Amino acid sequence: MVKVSKFGGSSLADAAQIKKVCDIILSDPDRKLIVVSAPGKRHKNDVKVTDLLISLAESYISGYDPAYDYRKVMERYSEIAKGLGLDDDIVSIIDRDLTERCLMDRTNRGEFLDSIKASGEDNCAKLIASYLQKLGHNAEYINPGEAGLLLTEEYGNANVLPESYENLAGLYDDSVIRIFPGFFGYSKNGDIVTLPRGGSDVSGSIVAAAVKAKIYENFTDVDSIFAVNPSLVKNPAPITDITYKEMRELSYAGFSVFHEEALTPVYYNDIPVHIKNTNNPSAPGTMIHAGIVPDSRKLVSGIAGSAGFSSIYIRKYLMNREIGFGRKVFHILEKEGIPYEHSPSGIDDISIIIRTHYLSAEKEKRLFDRIMEELDVDDITITHGQALVMVVGENCLKNPETFFRAAKALYESNIVVKMINQGSSKVSIMFGMNEQYCDDAIRALYKEFFPDFQ
Ligand code: ASP
Repeated sequence: MVKVSKFGGSSLADAAQIKKVCDIILSDPDRKLIVVSAPGKRHKNDVKVTDLLISLAESYISGYDPAYDYRKVMERYSEIAKGLGLDDDIVSIIDRDLTERCLMDRTNRGEFLDSIKASGEDNCAKLIASYLQKLGHNAEYINPGEAGLLLTEEYGNANVLPESYENLAGLYDDSVIRIFPGFFGYSKNGDIVTLPRGGSDVSGSIVAAAVKAKIYENFTDVDSIFAVNPSLVKNPAPITDITYKEMRELSYAGFSVFHEEALTPVYYNDIPVHIKNTNNPSAPGTMIHAGIVPDSRKLVSGIAGSAGFSSIYIRKYLMNREIGFGRKVFHILEKEGIPYEHSPSGIDDISIIIRTHYLSAEKEKRLFDRIMEELDVDDITITHGQALVMVVGENCLKNPETFFRAAKALYESNIVVKMINQGSSKVSIMFGMNEQYCDDAIRALYKEFFPDFQ
């Protein structure tokens, strides 16, 4: 079975972690295409190799002495090589590689920074391939440029170019373990370009889609995704199975274990994603399914919520009869560069919910004046400090009990609900409220729908 397995930074933070990763790779003969991050934090106060590299690049760019940062980076690699029992050759290869990158032309700041940043993943992949070879396995490092991972020339924020999928299609070979560094690719001009931070997840997802993997494994440092933000409740229920749609709704409303945008390439190819813990590989993890979860009778899969929304309320008598009113409002928002999130409406009223960070004081005033004048409305108010809390589950709307129980739980916890949105999404019920209620609302709903995990 074609599998792509991606390991995150905390799984590769030091030699002991890399040994665990290699044990995991070797324990399954289908794990032949491995995508790796750069070494992450070894402990809470540690610094990720990528951050050390950014600091190194910035020292060069600002003309400071880079020696300290350079030494810090090389210390991490040397320590890992030593812990893996590798000889000094690999450390010299990495040292030479990093020196060459540092000597690059710095006229284009983005290009220089990306080349240095990318070395974290690149050299980590070389170390892992060397270690597997030392153990006697047929393993090789893959250069993303030679393999054909082409990205847009947007330094630090690149996107995949469509031809990459064809270029990478033949990358899986069951006779050799291939170690593919995540986080970067090459522009059509042959320059190194990086994806946004955390981008190794995206690389893994691209590679999995390209080789038409049967499964994309994502190894991290938690046993599973939880049904609620673990910082809000004591005993969060693990989610063993979830659908892409549920995952997207949960991450939209504040879930941050896995950024769902990283999943786009696998999502479009119906590839399931298995999230697993490198430090506890026998735990079931969380399977993100492309279709409906087989046999799931659960009403609710998770609860999430987040603050940071503003609501624009507009009232105009006979609004419902005025053809084009909605279009004009949204046109003004478009011209101001503000994406809207939701827009519940009444007969003569419409509320538009947006993310507050899109509004500066100046923009807010302009928006207010334009809507008032151009649409000749009776009233407009903009309220900040709003939160959205969501009950998510593929089955949640199939049974009216969900809404009843959710509303009752919120009422009994004295939560004042200002907006309800049920039915526009098939997999969630959304409650809008002042942000002071957000955490309590999440707890109340969690208590209602997950009574076994309190
Ligand atoms: N190493 C990069 C970062 O720290 C990319 C990644 O780990 O996914 O953002």
